[in-house]
Amino acid sequence: MEEIVSLCKRRGFVFQSSDLYGGLQGVYDFGPLGVELKNNLKQAWWRAMVYMRDDIEGLDSSVLTHRTVLKHSGHESTFTDPMVDCKNCKCRMRADHLVDGKCDSCGSKNLTEPRNFNLMFKANFGPVEDGSSYVYLRPETAQGIFVNFGNVLDSTSRKIPFGIAQIGKSFRNEVTTKNFIFRVREFEQMELEFFVKPGTDEQWHKFWVQERFNWWLSQGLSADNLQLQPQGKADLSHYSKATTDILYKFPHGFEEIEGIANRTDFDLGSHSKNQSELNLLAKVLENKDSSAKFLAQDGDSSYVPFAIEPSAGLDRGVLAILTEAYKKERLENGQERIALKLKPSLAPFKAAVVPLARNNDKIVSKAKDITEELRKTLIGRVKYEDTGNIGKAYRRHDEIGTPVCITVDFDTFEGSQETVTVRDRDSMEQRRIPVSDLKNYVVSVVSSAV
Ligand code: ATP
Repeated sequence: MEEIVSLCKRRGFVFQSSDLYGGLQGVYDFGPLGVELKNNLKQAWWRAMVYMRDDIEGLDSSVLTHRTVLKHSGHESTFTDPMVDCKNCKCRMRADHLVDGKCDSCGSKNLTEPRNFNLMFKANFGPVEDGSSYVYLRPETAQGIFVNFGNVLDSTSRKIPFGIAQIGKSFRNEVTTKNFIFRVREFEQMELEFFVKPGTDEQWHKFWVQERFNWWLSQGLSADNLQLQPQGKADLSHYSKATTDILYKFPHGFEEIEGIANRTDFDLGSHSKNQSELNLLAKVLENKDSSAKFLAQDGDSSYVPFAIEPSAGLDRGVLAILTEAYKKERLENGQERIALKLKPSLAPFKAAVVPLARNNDKIVSKAKDITEELRKTLIGRVKYEDTGNIGKAYRRHDEIGTPVCITVDFDTFEGSQETVTVRDRDSMEQRRIPVSDLKNYVVSVVSSAV
């Protein structure tokens, strides 16, 4: 983990937020390379969920959330973690994370009784600051989906089964944050709520568990480092009939990157009025606030759909991808290299174009032309790399995962057609190809098995 954290800072993937003022605990900023990696992973998810399917719509709901939404979702009363304080060193930690009942930090057993601590952030809303008018920063993107169920259904004429997908920020005032970007207070989630007819829910749950597991494989995580873990009945959230977690082998051990829950009719039922008429399976809080009734028509009858929810953490996804890709290799010449063996579609830079001689106008101008041409293909960032010598440029780009380096040299202009050297990040193999083939070559490397 230390090596990954150091690479992230050194090369501009992830920075501690407000580090110049001592840092904000559990809050991170994504730098020039981090934002690319994160966007690429988001796009891959959106493509798989929304573009490649016929039965899913997208949504971007607000972060600021009406109190009543989070009252009926159960978050106001139950979104809590049990917390204890160490009387010896004053540290605060989660009671359910204690090992042998001892303080994480000093090992003392002199702890307070557990107290419940609500994880939601409150913010003043409007010009009055007396605390009476507030909203919450959403603790999950899911509630924005549920409360928009009727709007999406009406505006798209969808029929069950169909889903609504959303990517966005969520906020949780975690009691303790640790393991870099694994557990943080501000993070992004990629969530799907897939609405199904009761009775078909178990089958759809199974389908999404498999689908999501395969998606993580397709992003480059290896099967050996992934596990499916069905939760025991005792661990299930109040709304869930069944939940299966996908765990990844992080440097600190196997932990959750995504949970796939069968939330039954709890959510649409909770946000509906006249609940006694709805024949709900879930136990919900009485709702006298809502003006909606979330029903799906089935011939002459109607029902409240069940929601199957695959909910993934983007920041945890980025950490898993970095963990998997980070390789330290001993080369034949005895030197060591660090290579980030990212799937090319996720790499921050898709290609680097290196002019061998920075003082040769012909080489420089050709390298710039090639860079421009590659950028026009819209594959993503293409770096014009004229700092340092060629060996350094290769090492730098290995370390940040650039799949292809292209070198323009004196031989480029020899022969009947112009040629360049292309160097593959993983095999380090170099070969000459005609400049006229370059676009196709780079595009095919970068978009292979997107
Ligand atoms: P945990 O048990 O680790 O606290 P959770 O079960 O509360 O997680 P969910 O509410 O199921 O998590 O959220 C879905 C996903 O959102 C998780 O699988 C995880 O990837 C991500 N996530 C949740 N909390 C955090 C956090 N504090 N920091 C980063 N990602 C998070």
